[in-house]
Amino acid sequence: MLSGTMTDQHGRSINYLRLSITDRCNLRCLYCRSSCTDLKMLPHDQMLSYEESLELIAVASELNISKVRLTGGEPFIRKNFLHFLEQILQRHPHLDMRLTTNATLLSGKIPALKEIGVQGLNISLDTLNREKFQRITGRDFFLQVRGAIDQCLEHGLRVKINVVALKGVNDDELPDFVRLAERLPLDLRFIEFMPMGEQTVWTPDQLWTASEILREAGAITSLVPVADRDKRKGPARMFSLADGKGRIGVISPLSSHFCGQCNRLRITPDGRLRTCLFSDKEYRLRPILRSPKLGREHLRQVIIRAGKNKPMGHELLAAQGRERSVCRKIMSAIGG
Ligand code: SAM
Repeated sequence: MLSGTMTDQHGRSINYLRLSITDRCNLRCLYCRSSCTDLKMLPHDQMLSYEESLELIAVASELNISKVRLTGGEPFIRKNFLHFLEQILQRHPHLDMRLTTNATLLSGKIPALKEIGVQGLNISLDTLNREKFQRITGRDFFLQVRGAIDQCLEHGLRVKINVVALKGVNDDELPDFVRLAERLPLDLRFIEFMPMGEQTVWTPDQLWTASEILREAGAITSLVPVADRDKRKGPARMFSLADGKGRIGVISPLSSHFCGQCNRLRITPDGRLRTCLFSDKEYRLRPILRSPKLGREHLRQVIIRAGKNKPMGHELLAAQGRERSVCRKIMSAIGG
């Protein structure tokens, strides 16, 4: 069977897979897991094994998926994660491999990551204040995260910091975030809060929108838009800073959607393929991976069919109205 690029019914080519390897996390962020009163963890036998995940990545790369992001939950919580990473890169040396982490468990692992061939990390950090970090995440890990960012930069790993923008929580820290991006050679991106999960309690006045962030940041420093060809493709609108080493940017999934350029598929830790963050439709790949009868070709056909039917998420959002959360599951159960 010939392999080829996957294209959906809207003409978008799909070349990016976000694979969540666990639903467990060591933080309890107020907009994610802490909002759930009855958080049930997946039993271990329902999670994809590393072998099954490697099989999935092999099929994805046959379909010309060239970029894979490992996420969670918190990926570094899973046992033997570094060995898994090593196996992926040994089998697929040309894969553009990315990681998203809260960086609480990175200490001592950064040289190994570099050695394995990881080029950079997306690190989530919503505040530069230790006490507030504890309030947002429920844990006192600020110093570990802040230290890990410095160590990554010292070892030449690219760092992107993701800040969930929360009005009344971290909007007062914008000048500090701007200073950080001026001082350090990293990309700092504000991500608009998305109401996710059936139990998330939110009101629209909690949204600190991308346009507000850019207006306020522009009053602190001068922002120079980064041309698309210089920023590598992605949903962030990036800006370099006058006299700054780093850059800041915004990702606005709600206020100005980027569905037209969306090139991604997501796999949940229990092997469900989701073609859009805003759609609860899932394709169950685990039974196929575990079936003695259904082989790689069957898996491939299901992924191709799912990819073809990838929806335009903003149409789904418009249809459901703003009072609901954007999808049933929270981010740590899907993979952020
Ligand atoms: N544990 C890893 C981490 O912290 O980066 C990976 C998983 S975490 C679910 C991925 C990202 O999703 C984090 O940056 C987190 O802040 C973000 N996130 C979770 N819930 C969100 C929400 N409701 N709106 C916007 N971002 C959210």
